[in-house]
Amino acid sequence: MPVRVRIAPSPTGDPHVGTAYVALFNRTWAKRNGGKFLLRIEDTDRARSNPESERMIFDSLKWLGLTYDEGPDIGGPVGPYRQSERVAIYPKHAKDLVEKGAAYYCTCTADRMEAVRKAQSAAKLAPRYDGHCRNMPPGEVKKQIDAGAPWVIRLKMPTEGECRFKDVVRGEVVFGWDQIDDQILLKSDGWPTYHLANVVDDHLMGITHVIRAEEWISSTPKHIKLYEVFGWEPPVWCHVPLLRNKDKSKISKRKNPTSLNWYRDQGYLPEALVNFLGLMGFSMPAGLEVYSPAEMEKEFSIEKINAGGPVFDMQKLDWMNGQYMRKLSAEELATRLGPFGAAGKDAATVKRIIPLIQDRLRVLSDFAELTSFFFAETVEHDPALLVGKKSNPADTLAMLLSARDVLQTCEWTAASMEAKLRDVATAKGVKPGDLFMPVRVAVTGKAATPPLTETMEVIGREKCLARLEAAGKKLA
Ligand code: GLU
Repeated sequence: MPVRVRIAPSPTGDPHVGTAYVALFNRTWAKRNGGKFLLRIEDTDRARSNPESERMIFDSLKWLGLTYDEGPDIGGPVGPYRQSERVAIYPKHAKDLVEKGAAYYCTCTADRMEAVRKAQSAAKLAPRYDGHCRNMPPGEVKKQIDAGAPWVIRLKMPTEGECRFKDVVRGEVVFGWDQIDDQILLKSDGWPTYHLANVVDDHLMGITHVIRAEEWISSTPKHIKLYEVFGWEPPVWCHVPLLRNKDKSKISKRKNPTSLNWYRDQGYLPEALVNFLGLMGFSMPAGLEVYSPAEMEKEFSIEKINAGGPVFDMQKLDWMNGQYMRKLSAEELATRLGPFGAAGKDAATVKRIIPLIQDRLRVLSDFAELTSFFFAETVEHDPALLVGKKSNPADTLAMLLSARDVLQTCEWTAASMEAKLRDVATAKGVKPGDLFMPVRVAVTGKAATPPLTETMEVIGREKCLARLEAAGKKLA
């Protein structure tokens, strides 16, 4: 059977980094097996789903290169791929189960459920449906429905015994059936719950492997029951460990950025983020850490997904981003920097700046801060930065004026400026660094910059001299 896998995100809120993580494993598994990777939008929660979130899912997957073979925006043979467009499909499946005796109508009101919940909580029992309608005499519930009572359809779960299933990552998983509630499958308005829609669609879409986050594992017994009562072949189950905050709790935006938009807006390179996400759940042979999706495809197998909860380590991500940033050609980096402030700047200057900053960029959005002084007319001077700890304003002023004098006439190349400035330092009896620092602050306004004379070469003589003057005035 050809491999068919999917991700099934709900379009609520920002696109989540966990969606990309699970997408990567699904997609890689499909590629590895010459199969298909689908995107299905699970938008049956009408209160929380919204088109903007859906659009952001499409955009962020595209941004990451986690393209899919079938999906709501590109179509495919088993569409529609948006559950809200499939609502007509689900009721008959739920009603079939009622006919088979595997599910039942329930008319319990919200008030009754609340009373049951309170009683259970007082008795220190786990909250669950108490089987009221399941145990009613036949015909009784139907009467109520005919009289206009709102209803739901619930799945009849076994009350004893165990649900055992094999999970590719976790091995044999066991749940006592008595831990599993009689799940609501369908509501009076004809809309399905997650469980019904998810299983029906996985079946109708020919999904062979359900590769999803570990948090869904407790839903799996319900899904297994559904496959059984429908008489359908269940998929292979593969629950991928959750990404974690540093303190090992489930990744959350309070402790770690989770929105893919944030990573894009910060200027993480998509290929670096994807590689990093790969590291979170999978180890390449020989500890290889920097690898392309194609290299991962050659080695990846769902059996090799690591079972431990991977910590989303921002420092590691920064390191990974650096690896990819350094690999880009200057032209490519200039293009990537476009949306981060390079577009609209003088292209020739950008081209000259790139070699100076390529090693210093952590993320693309560092560009503005790292390079503002190249483009600004003037820079601000903080006297505390200008005057070194071992110096004083008068000596610093004298050094800046001497520097200005030699820079007025010297050849405007980094090498020539370097030599002249060193001569000035020697003449003043100071270490080169003691001269270079005030000059650096004077021409850039900052204490940390790319190599000074190369920076000055790009800034240009006129601006550098004017800034030395201005800095001198601050000290005079
Ligand atoms: N709609 C679920 C989600 O938001 C799908 C879980 C699954 O893959 O079955 O992640």
